[in-house]
Amino acid sequence: MNTDSALLAKRLIDGEKLKESEYLLLLSASDAELKEQLRQAAVKQRRRIYGNEVFVRGLIEIGNHCKNDCYYCGIRKSNKNADRYRLTPDEILFCADEGYRLGFRTFVLQGGEDAAFSDALLAGLISEIKLRHPDCAVTLSLGERGEESFRALYAAGADRYLLRHETASPDHYKKLHPPALSFANRMESLRILRKIGYAVGAGFMVGSPFQTKADLAKDLFFIQEFRPDMCGIGPFIPHKDTPFADFPAGALEDTCFLLSLIRLIVPEILLPATTALGTVHPTGREQGILSGANVVMPNLSPVSVRKKYSLYDNKICTGEESAECRDCLNQRMQAIGYKIVTDRGDKRTKGANNNGNL
Ligand code: SAH
Repeated sequence: MNTDSALLAKRLIDGEKLKESEYLLLLSASDAELKEQLRQAAVKQRRRIYGNEVFVRGLIEIGNHCKNDCYYCGIRKSNKNADRYRLTPDEILFCADEGYRLGFRTFVLQGGEDAAFSDALLAGLISEIKLRHPDCAVTLSLGERGEESFRALYAAGADRYLLRHETASPDHYKKLHPPALSFANRMESLRILRKIGYAVGAGFMVGSPFQTKADLAKDLFFIQEFRPDMCGIGPFIPHKDTPFADFPAGALEDTCFLLSLIRLIVPEILLPATTALGTVHPTGREQGILSGANVVMPNLSPVSVRKKYSLYDNKICTGEESAECRDCLNQRMQAIGYKIVTDRGDKRTKGANNNGNL
């Protein structure tokens, strides 16, 4: 085992902050044995704070119209083959009601950047969900809507906002996005969301085109400094109708290693084992949980639109009804010794600052 990286791993496990250059070394020089040590330490942290409980979020994909043209994304504006849809407020409420019945206490409204979902429409929808289900959290994942909109939706009752930073490297950001999108605005949006009072989720893809280990070290350092409440990471998966169609998918092992590192960097973080992880490997989500993740996000969207919300090829769970998805995940989690709970699943802070050194 490389002694430098072993020392760094020990410092991370002991709750010390590392420099960006040290994250790079850890990413470059960790062998299988060290990775396994880090995985076990991450699971220990996860268990200390969240026990064997796994939080669920009901994902409602409210529409796939998007004004942006991200090179990796299947619902980008220029994809003429995308079959566009928007759910109506009634359809979305129906999904939430069904989700509530199935034990979900968090609903995530996700979609492209689409002006047709006006602040007024969304605010009405959010307050109606909260009125019907006051014990639930509403999470939004609707892109860079701007401060005024973020404020209006927070005032309507939204609790959390997922806005992956996608990459913490400005140069890499330019290789993934057209010039109309700016790294500075993405990062500023995250700061604004936090200032308003949202629980904030950052995140990035693993193995996205042109990503280097130095870029990933920047991502880890950003997570350490910004300390988001949530972090969504999953492998990049090519979509056939995008400029990145011919790039390879990100690896399961790399994603799991990063999940472990993120759990150690911010022990109390809410960390999903994503659908993308379940898409690159049949037991990807289980392996994600066993690497330190503590959230799963099954799909609550109507089956009629599931295939249309295609960010990448071969996405799993596009044919099942919501109840089947929930049952399937219940069984999968049980099989590895974890259990899905009926809970809003807020971030826990209890004992979260002593890094396992009880
Ligand atoms: N419009 C919203 C939601 C985007 S979809 C927003 O801008 O935040 C949610 C996430 O899916 C994205 O942040 C991106 O990281 C991920 N994603 C998009 N295309 C992907 C692909 N081809 N492979 C893996 N993940 C992808």
